[in-house]
Order: sequence, then C-alpha cells, then structure tokens
Amino acid sequence: MKIGIVAIQGDFAAHAAMLRELGAGTVEVRTVRDLEGCDGIVLPGGESTTQLQFLKEEGLFDAIRNFSKQGGAVFGTCAGAILLATKVNNPPQESLGLLDMTVLRNGYGRQLASDVFYGPSTLKQQPLEMVFIRGPIIEEVGKDIAVLARHEGKAALVEKGNVLAATFHPELTDDTTVHQHFLEMAAAHVAESARAR
Ligand code: GLN
Repeated sequence: MKIGIVAIQGDFAAHAAMLRELGAGTVEVRTVRDLEGCDGIVLPGGESTTQLQFLKEEGLFDAIRNFSKQGGAVFGTCAGAILLATKVNNPPQESLGLLDMTVLRNGYGRQLASDVFYGPSTLKQQPLEMVFIRGPIIEEVGKDIAVLARHEGKAALVEKGNVLAATFHPELTDDTTVHQHFLEMAAAHVAESARAR
C-alpha cells in the first residue's frame, strides 16, 4: 500500500509516521507526478486557503479529483476536510467537492478552538481521542454520508465510499484507529478496482 501525503504545510510528517508505523509506504506529494502509483492520498491540516491555492497552481486540484473518481482513497484532516467538502462557509471558499457536506471554518470559535476531547465513535468501543486545532464544524451532511465519530453531538469523522474526513487531528495522538481504518478503506478500493479491470 502506497499513500501520498500532500506536503505543502502543516503536519504531513505526523501522518507519514503513523501510516509507516501501520506498515504502509508513504510519499510526499507536491506535484501531479508524485501521485503516480499511490493507492491513497492524505490532505493534512494547515490553512485551507493556502493549500487550495497551491493545489490549483500545481494542477493537483484536478488531479486529486480524478484520483478519487477513479477509486483512490482520500483522507482529509481539518483543513483537508474543508477542502473535501461540497460547501464551505466562513468565508465561502472553493473546494474539491468530494464529500457531500457543508463545513463552517473555525467553527468552534477562538477560545475553545484548540483542545483535546473524547467522543463516541463507531470504530472502537472506547471514546476516541480528538485533537482540535481551529477545526471546522460539519454543519450538514448528505443522506448517504456515514458519521463515524462525533464531538458535542456534531459529526467529526465522516465517510462515503473511498473518501474520509476528520475535523480533528488523529495523527497527533498515539491512537492509530482512524489511520488503520483509512488503510483498510484504501485496500478495499484497490481490490475493487482490480476486480473491475
Ligand atoms: N482553520 C484552518 C482553516 O480554516 C484549519 C485548521 C487546521 O487544519 N488545523 O483552514
């Protein structure tokens, strides 16, 4: 399994370390060519406006959309989740539109913006550790989106098919549950596209 990690800014190294710990190969993605041979891609946290501009300049905006439409697994955390949404508020911003949801940037406000919380999740029995850093709130999800974890009753980890998004930072904890789930999702889609060929 080879996972590309968009490496413009933010905590891409923490994602890479966690994925390698789980046995995946990783590659830093800064150009369209870096995506070649990847089974999955991670869009890390950071500043979504800066990242959006970079993705557009490099042609990665369209390349990531195509990658996902062809079955490649995509995982966005925080700013990455903002980039995956179909609709972005506060302020409105263009996005990849790969996951049917509306997000409110910096939704938890400034004071309570960055902290560690525990919330219910379908991925494990114990509450899931969630590190929030000026994260977005998922205000609305489409009918066919699965909510895998919640914070304050609001969806915080969501997925549909080969696309997964977290408003928090699982890569900044010692808990590999979410990344393990992403690798399983990527493996399932690799198997599916092999069958389709
Ligand atoms: N507040 C950032 C944004 O709106 C996201 C923060 C993060 O990724 N930790 O893009």
